[in-house]
Amino acid sequence: MMDGKIALIEAGGTKFIVGVGDASRQIQARTRIDTTRPEETIPAAIDWLRQQGGDYAAVGIASFGPLDLDRASPQWGHITRTTKPHWSMADVAGPFARAFTCPVAINTDVNGAALAEWMWGAGQATNSSLYLTVGTGVGGGAVVGGQLVHGVTHPEMGHIRMPRHPADTGFEGTCPFHGDCLEGLAAGPSIIARWGASLSDLPSDHIGHRIIAWYLAHAIATFQAILEPARIILGGGVMESPGLLARIRSEAVEAAAGYFAGRPQEMIVPPALGDSAGLLGALALTLVEGHPHSAGAKRQ
Ligand code: ZN
Repeated sequence: MMDGKIALIEAGGTKFIVGVGDASRQIQARTRIDTTRPEETIPAAIDWLRQQGGDYAAVGIASFGPLDLDRASPQWGHITRTTKPHWSMADVAGPFARAFTCPVAINTDVNGAALAEWMWGAGQATNSSLYLTVGTGVGGGAVVGGQLVHGVTHPEMGHIRMPRHPADTGFEGTCPFHGDCLEGLAAGPSIIARWGASLSDLPSDHIGHRIIAWYLAHAIATFQAILEPARIILGGGVMESPGLLARIRSEAVEAAAGYFAGRPQEMIVPPALGDSAGLLGALALTLVEGHPHSAGAKRQ
């Protein structure tokens, strides 16, 4: 257990939520800073953290990505290629490390949430859980045996290739890199592109509900085949659409064609941490520091 105050940063594409917490999960203060340019947003976050006392035992950053998390790389802690203006190759971790001279843990917001949900939320007391967020994009993080699954950097589970729903032919998909990957077929922008409204705003008998549930159930079948997680946690704005979780559960068994281990009602679940998931994700990343592949923590 780590003593002392921990600086927490949820670095999102539209806003940074910055907070001060501790290992007991108390968030003592928090603020919101608009995400503009790195040279404005990051110093504003550092200034606010200094105003809260500034003496931190660790800094945890759960950031939008993609991120370079290879600790041997000179660009460790930088955002890499992003379509967000001004932020390609932005150094996110470095300014905090220089300002506070304490260990900095950084990972994606998705991996932070995956870890926090496993530690304290819907994946608690399991040996493995998969967290998928379906919103403006699709992201996934997996915890197996207490560690985030990593290669040279974080997985990009939203970009797996997908089979086509028979009633969804002719749609090119909205992923700027792949077209009709999972994200290109099931994230919010793909729903708007096909049907002109979000899933929540479509009538309950609209075929869009069945198509999106079908894609997510088939993605789950793929992730199950690779990871066999004990829990599959589905979050993000699209998942707030009424009835979607139930449709995915009922499609999942068929999509896995005999290989679904367990009962979908118990395994496919919503997140449990609510509004604090971002900051708790940043906190979780600092608490697993020292596990070489778990959080990408680095002492500067
Ligand atoms: Zn893609």
